[in-house]
Amino acid sequence: MSSRKKLIAGNWKMNKTSADGVALARDLVVAIGKQAEVDVVVCPPFTAIESVGKALEGSNVRLGAQNMHHEASGAFTGEVSAPMLRAIFATHVILGHSERRTFFGDTDEFVNKKVLAALKNQLRPIFCVGETLAERESGATLKVVQTQVERGLEGVNRDQAASVIVAYEPVWAIGTGKVATTEQAQEVHAFIRGLLTKLFSEPVAQKVRILYGGSMKPANAPELLAQKDIDGGLIGGAALEARSFVELVTAAAAVK
Ligand code: PEP
Repeated sequence: MSSRKKLIAGNWKMNKTSADGVALARDLVVAIGKQAEVDVVVCPPFTAIESVGKALEGSNVRLGAQNMHHEASGAFTGEVSAPMLRAIFATHVILGHSERRTFFGDTDEFVNKKVLAALKNQLRPIFCVGETLAERESGATLKVVQTQVERGLEGVNRDQAASVIVAYEPVWAIGTGKVATTEQAQEVHAFIRGLLTKLFSEPVAQKVRILYGGSMKPANAPELLAQKDIDGGLIGGAALEARSFVELVTAAAAVK
């Protein structure tokens, strides 16, 4: 097993009212709030994030956001900033999720600004990359991922890089029930680690956690999580129920 601690992060997307989110958070605290073998993060929608954070207080479950703006404050209607997230004790932020890239125009350049702002504010970015089905079928997967990684992490220095978390999420596997094979996932994860070695050095690349995301479920998680370069999961659908999310954390803890 690698020395990297596994990380399971839940992306609740646009689901859960504040009350529903608190109820789920309380269930998670009871089931996995004290375990320390796996790092666990939940990322509720903005309306629930502060109350969920309070429900998680005193537990080992960390709080993340699903997006943020790169400026600290100003005339950016509908946005929130890194200092605002820090003020409610968020520790992580998902950046560059494919749904943001597809529906809200997040470009590599915009994502890069957010990554730099997150790091400057001691928030750990969960930086998402991944190819579409058309890109995979045309053999462009590695090129697409390379461009996203190089552009998204431009200007990140070596000291900062170790706290970046990369999530490889093939777009065709997100919310579709189609999971990448372990070979497909491991190939891209190893490729990303190689890129990180070139960008930041071998010791740094060995520290960076690379999560797999895309229809990860308790049934397919053990095989994926056993791969050498898969350091955890970014979970959508299966993060919305305590039982499946807890099972994923248990599966990550069981990897030897
Ligand atoms: C995600 O949105 O990051 C994700 C991986 O979703 P799902 O697990 O539902 O495929």
